[in-house]
Amino acid sequence: MSTNLAQNFQQVCQRLEQASLELAAGAAAPQLLAVSKYHSSSLIAELYQLGQVAFAESYVQEALSKQQELEGLAIEWHFIGPIQSNKTKQIAQHFTWVHSVDRLKVAERLNKACADSGRRLNICLQVNISREASKSGCLPEELPALAIAVQSLPYLQLRGLMAIPNPTEDIAEQRANFAKVAALQAQLNQILDDPLDTLSMGMSNDLEAAVAEGATYVRIGTALFGART
Ligand SMILES: *Cc1c(COP(=O)(O)O)cnc(C)c1O
Repeated sequence: MSTNLAQNFQQVCQRLEQASLELAAGAAAPQLLAVSKYHSSSLIAELYQLGQVAFAESYVQEALSKQQELEGLAIEWHFIGPIQSNKTKQIAQHFTWVHSVDRLKVAERLNKACADSGRRLNICLQVNISREASKSGCLPEELPALAIAVQSLPYLQLRGLMAIPNPTEDIAEQRANFAKVAALQAQLNQILDDPLDTLSMGMSNDLEAAVAEGATYVRIGTALFGART
């Protein structure tokens, strides 16, 4: 039994509730996505026993072996890592949400894989909001065309946007970055047939700023499980 997990979990939930109350005018707290990459199946099982159901992984092979070990638990699995197109079939089969779609080719392959199994997959488009050359994510100006194309794929349900802004300790800067993501979503909602309802943004160091700007999912690893080794 890890001594800190229950305490960390309680602290993260408190941070979310407090931020919602103080910074988001009492809006419902966002859903907590526990980012378990590099952490063991036994820690995941422990957190699940404490009541956490949604877990996120970034690497397909690592995730699949954990899913096998945790087969008996009703975990909701989210994929948040970079997507290689030769992994789309496994991703479509083993996850219910994918937060990191950033190009049409990947979306089309996920759609096809879902058509084969008859399932519908929840999708967020990852946007490279800080325009970093090294980062995944489509550029903001590419978003409208990508969103329209993805929304037309029958086995994908386009839910919203995901972003990982440039890390900064300055909360005003954090908020400005997340506000840009929220504004992009509002713009998309003027042109899309079905409005987007999901903003996947905020990690251990900037979750308060993300809540303030309307996050509906925060993706938290370190603050729950400790540092990744
Ligand atoms: C690892 C990861 C996280 C979690 O980050 P922490 O700072 O450990 O909370 C969130 N989102 C994505 C996409 C990640 O890869």
